[in-house]
Amino acid sequence: MTQDLISHIDRLIRQRPPSKPALLPFRELVHLMAHSTPDVRTVRIEKGVRDIQRQEGFPLFSREDLPLDFNAAADLLKKFLAHLIDAGRHDVQGIKTALNKTEAAHDWSGRLFRAILKQDEEAVSIMAAEVKLDPNVLLFLGKTALKPSIACLRDAVSEEMDKNEWREGYCPLCGSQPDMACFERTGKRYLHCELCGEEWPFPRIKCPFCNAEEQEKLGYFEAEQEEGFRVYFCRECLRYIKTIDKKAFEEVAPLELENLATIHLDLLAQENGFR
Ligand SMILES: [Zn+2]
Ligand SMILES: [Zn+2]
Repeated sequence: MTQDLISHIDRLIRQRPPSKPALLPFRELVHLMAHSTPDVRTVRIEKGVRDIQRQEGFPLFSREDLPLDFNAAADLLKKFLAHLIDAGRHDVQGIKTALNKTEAAHDWSGRLFRAILKQDEEAVSIMAAEVKLDPNVLLFLGKTALKPSIACLRDAVSEEMDKNEWREGYCPLCGSQPDMACFERTGKRYLHCELCGEEWPFPRIKCPFCNAEEQEKLGYFEAEQEEGFRVYFCRECLRYIKTIDKKAFEEVAPLELENLATIHLDLLAQENGFR
């Protein structure tokens, strides 16, 4: 898995050099993630109960109740920070302070993980200010430290998931919103969860955020000279979603990487008033 991710990252950087600044730091973290062995236990849910939950639009877990291994994630966060101290970053002082916090302050990492899962942006900002780091950097490191645990959980519950029966614009596993979409070679649209990376089918002409289906409310734009990518937007809720059309590429990286490699499209969407 790790090797696979690394080779996708190297190929993306080769084929689309502007993606390098976003992908290179992540490449370093992927190496460190390879040695994380989280212990994730999940509960079995009776099929009948699960069917009802699904019909009612309840994901398998809510973000705050995801049974993740915070100890493994805290260990990994420490490794990330220790590694970044030697990376020649401009914010090295903040990285050092954060590392001290993870080692000295009681349950500092746990507080960060809980804030991330709760989507409590204010709490993340306060913690980032404590150590003088950009909140986005701390958020990215915290989320990435949770990834091996989340991947374990996804493996453990893959049989419980009946994604083809799922009708919602949020993730069937954890209830989070999508951060990216793709058109499969069949033309079918899939959404990709911003937290757990789960993918599930969703109608092409429907906003995943507010369910608007009227053609006149929905639209898309493309970046110049960038075939295969579109930004779909909704005039009703002003949200957008980046979309990769797999037909336009010989090889497509996992969507978490395509998402990192297309940050310029987020900027473009935001410049156009979407969020
Ligand atoms: Zn999810
Ligand atoms: Zn909408």
